[in-house]
Amino acid sequence: MTKYDNLYWLDNLPTGWAQLYRDLLEDLAADGISVRVAEAKEKFGSLRIYLQPGTPEAKAYIAAAELRSKATCQHCGDAGELLVRDHLYATLCPVHGQGFSKPSGEPVVSLNIRFLDLSGEGEV
Ligand SMILES: [Zn+2]
Repeated sequence: MTKYDNLYWLDNLPTGWAQLYRDLLEDLAADGISVRVAEAKEKFGSLRIYLQPGTPEAKAYIAAAELRSKATCQHCGDAGELLVRDHLYATLCPVHGQGFSKPSGEPVVSLNIRFLDLSGEGEV
């Protein structure tokens, strides 16, 4: 198996998400959408899939799979939720989530961007 096979990325994913990832590839194939996965990984307890090159028609499928991963234990595939321990985020079921606790917020860096109107009329 090489980097150019989509299933290569199974090795890079938590075992609990293997089925989810296989389902995604099958759904895409069933609808005649050909994709090449550039990278698939776990980040902040969520599945992340990057395609190469961008395949716009696959976006909704990817988004749905990523959403599903947020409710699927990454160890066993049972229903799970986002948990945290020592700044490590993971989506886990009650069994595998022992010792973890619920995060106080989403593990994302948020930026507040304000647009300035440089014409001298103040902020937009
Ligand atoms: Zn589990």
